[in-house]
Amino acid sequence: TDVVRLESLRKIYEGPVTALDGVTVGFPAGSFTAVMGPSGSGKSTLLQCAAGLDRPTAGRVFIDGAELTAAGDTAMTKFRRRRVGFVFQDYNLLPALTVEQNVRLPLRLAGRRPDPGAISGVLTQLGLADRRHDRPESLSGGQRQRVAVARALVAEPAVIFADEPTGALDLRSAREVLTLLRSVVDDHRRTVVMVTHDPVAAAYADTVVFLADGRLAGSLRAPTAEAVA
Ligand code: ADP
Ligand code: ADP
Repeated sequence: TDVVRLESLRKIYEGPVTALDGVTVGFPAGSFTAVMGPSGSGKSTLLQCAAGLDRPTAGRVFIDGAELTAAGDTAMTKFRRRRVGFVFQDYNLLPALTVEQNVRLPLRLAGRRPDPGAISGVLTQLGLADRRHDRPESLSGGQRQRVAVARALVAEPAVIFADEPTGALDLRSAREVLTLLRSVVDDHRRTVVMVTHDPVAAAYADTVVFLADGRLAGSLRAPTAEAVA
């Protein structure tokens, strides 16, 4: 079954610019999908609409069987906070908060009582236990992105959307973060949808979906990380 289903998504920006021109695609539970395509092909727009960060002009978005596009703004925000995790290229950590406070934030926003055991469990798994009281500015890029992945995981979302998660990292840190996203799927049994233009990153995914001019231009199963290593 598909955790995320996009039906006939269209997005027209002012201009007008057609960013998405009728995209229908599903992301199965427990899959790791890379969305690739040239600059301007609609990758970010697809992710923003799928994640409930923006609204499509037409078409429908389903997450876990619930129609996100049918929800009003308040319900959409609430749904997003409960069911969706995000990882961004520029980490989006809050600089005034410690690592641990950043990781705890989605639970607080979802109105859930943070379970201290769960938080320290995630921090330990991601190799961040000894940095828990540090602020993001004292961390390397790779460590910051690990904090962002921990933050995306902690509320146990149905799906994690990652927009160019390795775009600001050197190859070594990029591989660390990609291995982590792989384990989010393999060990945590989550579903990951990642936008990237980097073939190294895409090789960690199970499936690659190609966009061109706002349309689905094909898809293929990628070799696994083991095959690439
Ligand atoms: P990609 O992520 O593949 O580079 P985008 O989804 O960012 O593509 O953009 C798709 C198209 O929509 C591009 O032509 C881009 O210029 C346009 N676009 C994206 N965001 C906006 C916006 N906020 N307003 C107007 N046009 C936009
Ligand atoms: P906004 O008001 O812009 O929607 P929020 O108040 O929901 O932002 O979130 C504040 C910060 O927490 C943002 O930087 C956002 O990136 C991060 N955040 C919130 N929820 C999640 C989540 N489920 N996964 C990852 N980061 C999140």
